[in-house]
Order: sequence, then C-alpha cells, then structure tokens
Amino acid sequence: MSLDRTFVDIPPYAQTAFEVLESAGFEAWIVGGFIRDTLMGRSDNVRDIDMATSATWRETKRAFIEAGFSVHETGTDHGTVTVVIERHALEVTTYRVDGMYTDSRHPDTVSFASTIEEDLARRDFTINALAYHPCKGLVDPYGGAADIEKRVLRTVGDPPQRFAEDALRILRGCRFASQLGFDFEPATFDAMRAAKSKTLALSRERVSHEIDLFITGSHVHDALLRCVDVLAPVLPELVALEGFDQKSVFHCYDVLEHTAWVVHNTPAHPLVRWAALLHDIGKPAACYESDGVRHFRGHPEISVIIGRGLLQRLGYSPKFIEQVLALVRRHDERIAATRKAVKTALRDLNGDTALFIALCQLKRADAMAKAPEYRMRVQTCDALLDILSEILAAEEPFTRSGLAINGNDVIALGVAPGPEVACALDAALDAVIEEEAENSLDDLVSFVEAWISSR
Ligand code: ATP
Ligand code: MG
Repeated sequence: MSLDRTFVDIPPYAQTAFEVLESAGFEAWIVGGFIRDTLMGRSDNVRDIDMATSATWRETKRAFIEAGFSVHETGTDHGTVTVVIERHALEVTTYRVDGMYTDSRHPDTVSFASTIEEDLARRDFTINALAYHPCKGLVDPYGGAADIEKRVLRTVGDPPQRFAEDALRILRGCRFASQLGFDFEPATFDAMRAAKSKTLALSRERVSHEIDLFITGSHVHDALLRCVDVLAPVLPELVALEGFDQKSVFHCYDVLEHTAWVVHNTPAHPLVRWAALLHDIGKPAACYESDGVRHFRGHPEISVIIGRGLLQRLGYSPKFIEQVLALVRRHDERIAATRKAVKTALRDLNGDTALFIALCQLKRADAMAKAPEYRMRVQTCDALLDILSEILAAEEPFTRSGLAINGNDVIALGVAPGPEVACALDAALDAVIEEEAENSLDDLVSFVEAWISSR
C-alpha cells in the first residue's frame, strides 16, 4: 500500500459518514472526484462525494438507518446506496472488482472485494484511483497524486484493455481533459484513438452526459482540438471542420479552431455552449469559393439542419433542441444597438429574455474569435445587454401579453374571435415597438380601430 499523510479537508457530513461506518465495524474511504479535485484545489467544483466501504450495501443501509439517516437504494446491483446527511447526498459503494466485459459497456459480473487496493484497481484513470481517510491518509497505488502534479491522464493498468472493457472511459478521458486541462499520457491517448469506435455501443444518455461535461469544461478549446478525432464516432459532424480554411478576411482560424474559441468564450452553460459548438457546423456545406475567397451564405440554416440531427441522435429534449437551434439560426443576424431592434429580437424569441442573453453571449464569443481587426462587434453585443436592462427596467413591452390592450378588448372592438385576435395584437405590438403608438389602452384602441377599417 502506498500511503501518504497528505491532508485533505473533509466536510463535516462526510466525517459523520466515517463515524457511522467505522463504529459499526467497517472500513470506509473517500474515493473518486472529491479527492482528485481537492488535491487540485478545485474543491468548489465538487458536486458529490463517493465513499468506498468494506460493508455490503445491506450493512451500509442498516448502519445509517440505525444512526437516524435516510438511505436510498440507488444502485444495489453494484453495491451502491445513497445516504443523505445534513441534506448532502453521499454515494457509498461496497469495495468491488469488475468481472469480464464482453460488450464494452457493462461488466458481466460484479464481485465484491475485501480491500481498498482491489477496489482502486478497477477505476479508470490514476487521478481517480485515490482513496483518502482522515487518520490513515492517502492510498495512491498508481501514482495518481504525481499524475495530478504532472497534469497527465493515464489509465490504471493496460490502456487498450481498460478501454475495451468500458468505452465510456474514452469519453470520460476527453471530458477530464476539458475540465482539468490535463494532457494524455501517450499510450493512453493512442489506445483511446484505437478504441474510439467502441463508443458507438454506449447509450445516448451516457454519451450526452459526458459531452455536456466536455463542452462546459474550462479547457474546452484545447481539449476540442485534441479530441475531435477520438470523439468522431459520437460527433462525426465535427470532422469536416478540422483544417477547413475559411479563406476570408474575417477569419484567422480554420472552422474547428474558430469553433473551439467560440465555445471557450461563452459562459459554461450547456445551452449556449452547444449553440457555439454547432453555430458554424454548416460552413463546409455552405462554402462557395470565388477568386480565392470563400463565402458561407446560408450557413446558419445548414448548421440548424446538421445540428438538429446531431442533437436528436443524442436524445436531447425537443425544447432544448429548439432553444439551441434558435441561437444557431440567429447567430449571424445583425441586431442594431437600439431599443427598437432589441425589442424586435425579443419579440422574435417569444419574449424569452434568457434566450436573448444567450444569443448576445454567442454573438460576443463569435466576434472575439474572428480576425483581430473584426473583433469590434464585441462592443455592440455588450451594448445590447445594457439596452435589454433598460427595456426591462422601463417595463417596455416586447410580447403581446405586455400590451395595455388584450384579446377581450380587441373582440369588443369588433375583431372576430379566433386567429384574427392574435393578428390584431401582433399589429399593435409592432406599432408599439416601432414607436408608432403608445402602450396605453386609449392609444391602442384607436390603433386597432384603424387596423380593422384598413382590412
Ligand atoms: P465527477 O467530478 O464528475 O463526479 P468522478 O471522477 O467523481 O467525477 P463519478 O462518475 O462520480 O466521476 O465516479 C466516481 C469514481 O468512480 C471515479 O472517480 C472513478 O474512480 C470511478 N469510475 C467512474 N466511472 C468509471 C468507469 N467507467 N470506469 C472505471 N472507473 C469509473
Ligand atoms: Mg464523483
């Protein structure tokens, strides 16, 4: 056993979990991402704590229930229960070794082990094969702490075998590169590339989960350029962007590198990052070259077509897909820094201010990733957000429901109930946005009366 007295700050609820398991006569260790992230000083990023124990899941459950905590049977087939302590969920899993894998996805059998060292041997990367105990210190049989210092991703054991067992590890490797900014140990990377087609066997839920984490990583620019080939089976649409020269004064990068910068320049939320990843994916198909200059007229619509297929294949919800594609479709549209133009854009987005903010973030990120002399549009994007704040503060309308007149008023004026009502209200909204009418009941009654007589 390689033990190290490294000090890791353990939150009180995890201390409680140690006390419960140890006073019931079992061993317990904190394992996985919490130890990795804490050693890296990334403890803010820790979402969950994973514990490994010598107790069976039934013994774990009994010990926590007797101590007065609630326990959920979240994965008893592989020995996992989730314990809730002070509103924190803690996953507790029995020491285990995985049996043979014949499908690159699930171990055929799971057998339970008796030592933490056996348990660490089944883990994917050395940086994740660390266990910590507040009195016993760090167990690090594979040099994970040194790999964290060297900022390198290396499998536990033989890389081809570990990726053949479970292809999810290939995608996890890519996402750790994006989240942590680590490079790959060469044999690990070679094996990822060689085994990449096995990722096709993974469920789309697991793939989309890893890709979401990949694109929201803070080192996504470098990771995308590095991993585009490994990710090709799950994201084949990206391959055509690599090395695709834009031959345009607006651009200093190929489409892939431009895309990587745009993703990097947006806030780390899946919606805007997906839109950034897909915004120019239609460029190779839209490309028209004349006199050595490339034009990409219509590329946003082609990006929408390609993006829809990609997101549907990965199983995203129809609502999420439509939001991403609304951003992709509009990323290249000019929005002047005026109240009228901002309200028109808000109206076109059905009044969804969050989507408008995401659109501004995308446009800003896109402007920043152009050739240096074309980055001035960043300022316009900032101005759009200031104007949005003014519009919201002044409660100026940009949807039908913000108007001082409603459907009943319009019907009372003689518009037939049905689709005509929406037409009348839309005309009123346009008039208010264009500053041709005030947003007052009197003004809008006059406007609708004139609208009716002009029909
Ligand atoms: P995160 O910060 O996303 O929680 P994590 O490394 O903790 O990262 P989990 O999915 O919570 O990831 O898994 C906990 C631990 O279980 C990992 O650190 C790793 O040791 C092990 N593990 C998870 N998935 C695999 C896998 N597919 N193959 C081998 N070990 C795995
Ligand atoms: Mg975890």
